[in-house]
Amino acid sequence: MYSMTAPRVRFAPSPTGFLHVGSARAALFNWLFARHTGGTLVLRIEDTDPARSRDDLIEGIERALRWLGLDWDEGPVRQSGRMHLYREAADKLLAAGVAYYCNCTPEALRERARKTPGYDGFCRDRALQAGAVRLRTPDEGETIVQDLIRGEVRFENGALEDFVVLRTDGSPTFVLANAVDDTDMAISHVIRGEDLLPSTPKGILARRLLGETDDPVFAHLPLLVDESRQKLSKRRHSVAVEEFREQGYLAEAMRNYLALLGWAPSDDREVVSIDEIIAEFRLEDVKPSPAFFDEKKLGHINAEYIRALPGERFISDALPWLEEDPPWPPERFDLGTFTAVAPLVQERVRTLSEVPAMVDFLFLEEPDLDKEEWDKMVGRVPPAAALLDDATAEYASCDWSSEVLHGATLAIGERHGLKLNKAQAPIRLAVTGRSVGPPLFESLVVLGRECVVRRLSAARQRLP
Ligand code: GLU
Repeated sequence: MYSMTAPRVRFAPSPTGFLHVGSARAALFNWLFARHTGGTLVLRIEDTDPARSRDDLIEGIERALRWLGLDWDEGPVRQSGRMHLYREAADKLLAAGVAYYCNCTPEALRERARKTPGYDGFCRDRALQAGAVRLRTPDEGETIVQDLIRGEVRFENGALEDFVVLRTDGSPTFVLANAVDDTDMAISHVIRGEDLLPSTPKGILARRLLGETDDPVFAHLPLLVDESRQKLSKRRHSVAVEEFREQGYLAEAMRNYLALLGWAPSDDREVVSIDEIIAEFRLEDVKPSPAFFDEKKLGHINAEYIRALPGERFISDALPWLEEDPPWPPERFDLGTFTAVAPLVQERVRTLSEVPAMVDFLFLEEPDLDKEEWDKMVGRVPPAAALLDDATAEYASCDWSSEVLHGATLAIGERHGLKLNKAQAPIRLAVTGRSVGPPLFESLVVLGRECVVRRLSAARQRLP
């Protein structure tokens, strides 16, 4: 027997694609609720549509959940292995006279729906013995969804069509399989996206007609929208959790950010440890209004998580980005060199995928010159050639430390009437190829005198 007190929740993805950030947020909120209440989280794979469910997609969903650190207590339970239960439920509904067979063809349905939208009840009283099974919805009254986030949501029964619970091929529809399993698995709280709210009264009716007296508690989570309040779309945004992983977001940062989509800790902090989130998380505090999926804020939170990593972990997390398909010949990579600049880089990247561009000047034979920045700089720093000449001369013989290089460059700048940041711009471009990067003088020290001087002279040749 299930415990009557500890909540039981489920995350129930349909494996028809990658794990969408909206689904990941639903998984996270279920997990947070379960962990906060000492409840049980079931992973249920809603794979009743064999044409669209694929094993690799199921694996991808589980991989993304594990990456986010979201574990489950029961499952994965696959609906495809429970088809007999849905058939039995449909038979029960038929036997009770609250469902009936319908043999309308899709064309006939489409044709008639043009006049009155929805199913018109054509087969209700035809006493057919085969076909799709439709549930006979009440013509009167209303079905009320008690939602923890949205309050009471009322649906007119008259507006609910007699919907299909079992297709002609014997496969169950989402509403039936979902309702049967929530009952069978003694799910106490249904926490899921708002997009499923319209189907909720159908699920409630199916449960009741199957003899269930209690409804679970519903909590429909707010929609995720972009900056123009549009639903997130695959075409315009990154929406797969694994895309964010590939872009170098940390799992902890992603999870932290997802927790803020509709919920916030009492003090409105943005960077919050997972233990604090678990301790504070309450479904009642989730706001019903659409939640803005703000990639800028995610980037900002990710940068904070990166900065907070122990140095060694930053290096080991960054390594895949440096070793797989690097922009330099792989044999030129040197872990010691990277380790020397790693603390400077760690302070400055938003995602791990930005690391290679920050350090490529250390491992490329020649810097990958940003031509556009170079042309702009030439116009902005009038005595660029003279400046590079001076730097070449000074750097060739001064002590090789960041303090000395800093002082020497300051002095060169003064000679040309330039502040340090202006004076250092052509030097940075000449040596690293870019206008931004880790602090210049520390970078020069790591790169070594010989290489720095050579690159300065080469850049000088490019100027008149
Ligand atoms: N399988 C449904 C979906 O992925 C979710 C079902 C639910 O959470 O109730 O949209």
